[in-house]
Amino acid sequence: MVDYTLVYIGPIGFSGSTLLDVALAQGDDVFSMGEVFQIAEWMRENHLCTCRKPIGECAFWPGVLKDITPNALATPAGIGREDLRARTISTDEETSRYVAAHWDLIDRVAEASGARLIIDGSKHLWRLKLLADARPDKIKFIQLCRDPLAVMQSAKIPKARLAVSSTAMTKPSSGLRTLTKWILSHRAARQFADQNRIPRLSVSYDRLTHEPEKSLSAICDWIGMSYDPAMLTLKTPDLHNIAGSRWRLTKDQSTISPASDTGRNSLISKTATALAGLSR
Ligand SMILES: [Zn+2]
Repeated sequence: MVDYTLVYIGPIGFSGSTLLDVALAQGDDVFSMGEVFQIAEWMRENHLCTCRKPIGECAFWPGVLKDITPNALATPAGIGREDLRARTISTDEETSRYVAAHWDLIDRVAEASGARLIIDGSKHLWRLKLLADARPDKIKFIQLCRDPLAVMQSAKIPKARLAVSSTAMTKPSSGLRTLTKWILSHRAARQFADQNRIPRLSVSYDRLTHEPEKSLSAICDWIGMSYDPAMLTLKTPDLHNIAGSRWRLTKDQSTISPASDTGRNSLISKTATALAGLSR
């Protein structure tokens, strides 16, 4: 089996994880799976892979998913609701089977891609915890932090789910709900990684978009890969990551442009960051 490290990006959505995921995936020796916790839905519905082909017909996934049923990779019932306090997740038989099936999937992805770094952009803290409980030495965690006001803004606007259909949309979330989730998830992610000695790198999305070269170089250094200027150009047609932001299906190529986040010094941002125990 190839020796690889799983780079997990989290802990919440609307934080720019697809951008970071796609940028890193331009490097050598890296394979991005995208938001692979949704793989069962992608298999059942034959949704689009980033390569623009349905997952059942693309050049990568059919070989990897051979002999695996969507049911084996489906998220155990009720687990999403325990998201904010990952430590309360139960370890019943169904959950144990889920963890074993997903590590098997990741092993297969590493084998098929030959990559030394496999990116999981699933974000959810419950998944990080389950995967890390089983194989703590295999994971590095990137805690991607976007200004809470920008996340609140982004989460309240329904977004098209182009990989699903031309009319499917995401469910909007209220500002207060998003802010609470931002604080609790970031706080829990930091505590979980630090208490369990999972290597954790805190990355500012704002800094990533304003100084992409500097920020990506630092991330690559930490992961243990070489920085490649090709990462500044986000090319998608050759990638096989699933789910994530819709832009990866609408443009063959784009560049990282500075985020228009303006609330970084607002009282809400400062308070949320302090409550989550993150440094600015
Ligand atoms: Zn594909």
